[in-house]
Amino acid sequence: METIKGIPVSSGVVIGRVILLDDVGSTSVPRRPIEPGEVDREIERFETARLASIDELDRLHREAREEMGPEAAKIFLFHIGALSDNRAVVEPIKKMIREDLVTAEHAAWRVFRDMSARFASKKDTTFRSKISDLNDLLARLLKHLIGHKIDEPARLDTDTVIVARDLTPSQTAAFDRERVVAFATDLGGKTSHTAIVARALGLPAVVGCQSLTRRASDGQRIIVDGERGIAILDPDDATVARYRDLDEQARARLLELRDLADLPAVTADGVEIELLGNIEFPDEIAGVLEAGGVGVGLYRTEFLYLTANTEPTEDDQYKAYKACVDLAAGRPLTIRTMDLGADKYTQARAETPERNPFLGLRSIRYCLQNLPMFKTQLRALLRASADGPIKVMFPLVTTVAEFRRARMILRDAMEDLEDAGVPFDRDIPVGMMVEVPSAAIQAATFAREADFFSIGTNDLIQYTLAVDRTNERVAGLYAPAHPAVLKLIRDVVRAGGRYDTPVSCCGEAAAEPDFAPLLIGLGVRTLSVTASAIPPLKRLIRSLTVKRCERIAKKAISFDSEVEAAAYVRDRVRKLAPDAFDGWSID
Ligand code: PEP
Ligand code: MG
Repeated sequence: METIKGIPVSSGVVIGRVILLDDVGSTSVPRRPIEPGEVDREIERFETARLASIDELDRLHREAREEMGPEAAKIFLFHIGALSDNRAVVEPIKKMIREDLVTAEHAAWRVFRDMSARFASKKDTTFRSKISDLNDLLARLLKHLIGHKIDEPARLDTDTVIVARDLTPSQTAAFDRERVVAFATDLGGKTSHTAIVARALGLPAVVGCQSLTRRASDGQRIIVDGERGIAILDPDDATVARYRDLDEQARARLLELRDLADLPAVTADGVEIELLGNIEFPDEIAGVLEAGGVGVGLYRTEFLYLTANTEPTEDDQYKAYKACVDLAAGRPLTIRTMDLGADKYTQARAETPERNPFLGLRSIRYCLQNLPMFKTQLRALLRASADGPIKVMFPLVTTVAEFRRARMILRDAMEDLEDAGVPFDRDIPVGMMVEVPSAAIQAATFAREADFFSIGTNDLIQYTLAVDRTNERVAGLYAPAHPAVLKLIRDVVRAGGRYDTPVSCCGEAAAEPDFAPLLIGLGVRTLSVTASAIPPLKRLIRSLTVKRCERIAKKAISFDSEVEAAAYVRDRVRKLAPDAFDGWSID
């Protein structure tokens, strides 16, 4: 039995079997050294996989030619040609196996990755357009070498635990939910979008387990404890029995919490807190309402792009937004325009990695540089606004010019629709995320322009403290209760109050028992959290008074350090609401 400590990101416990995922395409295939005596075997593995891929492509070419004609089928000839190219592909891979003493899959990945980088740097767009073909080819080759198991659900058992170095949010969203019951990764942070998707799917998960992929092997028994943040390989019988008990206790607690769904989220001194849900997919709305949420405070629309192979059309998007409008049935519904980039990249963007993606072409910046795509989304959103109330929210606004420009493009889209006689809500509220320190510092300026603010603590914390939210190595420095963060939030709430601009918070920290009281104490009255967090948050709210929260916030903000502030808040909340930190006590 081996216990590996990581970061808990999605609660629940699961006992299952490991499926080890080697990364393909955008990330990496780990370098596994081989002995000189293993070179011939690796070269043979490569040859077998290459020939099997060519056979497969040959068959696909024939089928495509019959169904779609020779022109459309040509792409498979390019793939076959590339896999038969001795100079550019076959010999370099063999040479790397021989000279660098690495596995066939690692050598193939490196050769294809280098080729993609060369193509990406070319001015000629024909080269760049071939990058996704190279990725497809690599995926095919790797499937034959190591089995790209996610593509083969038949291979997965119903208790599959995915173990991977890292997972993208879209990989996670694409899991076969019938079979995949949990995941654990070497890398990652609590507020990464992969972790957020895990919570949305109710999938227990632990990230930042550092060496897990090196220790785990396919088929091995594993416990993923998403509560305490541990993965246990080959658990002994006593441990399995203990975890079965804990699982039962947790289920019983969940049932108890469900009873709260119909009770109002009101503090003990009678102040109403609006509890909304964060969603990534329209069908999560039912879960939000069932859990006692009164609407949607954040719909992360980028998942429409991340879960599709091609860019969603205006109609695809309209359907998704209309589905939300119908499900929300007149309740609050805030739809955020796409927040692509950083850890949420589409296939196309993965080809041109940025050195510093969280500071790069992300979110509203990406939209403002890709206007046709942005306008398509805005048109779809406006069309859906004719079917029921929607608020539009722009993410990662950093400058006033950005907000004005985004709103101007929204107006352009309105004019287009008007000319075409398409109905929409002319008074649609237009707000922004406050998740960059510049926006928080200039909140008074923004408050005169925006119809509402939603504080995004996930990013606000990362940018204020210069801590990558996805990096397990600095996870200990990611401190929501840092006085610097609290001061920014305080100022945003004050600015909102001065200009009648409603302020909500939709970051993950809004669901934390040692952070939500601070938000309430600082004056935030609307919290938007993942569906599963709504019941415990409601219970916490009902056991606190605003007066107490104000006192706690005032004191926390006065500390010099985040360590003192966090310890103080935790201690206070523990006393006021002893069940707020209900975890699983194992010992
Ligand atoms: C945030 O940054 O807090 C937020 C809600 O947005 P996202 O997590 O999608 O970046
Ligand atoms: Mg954000």
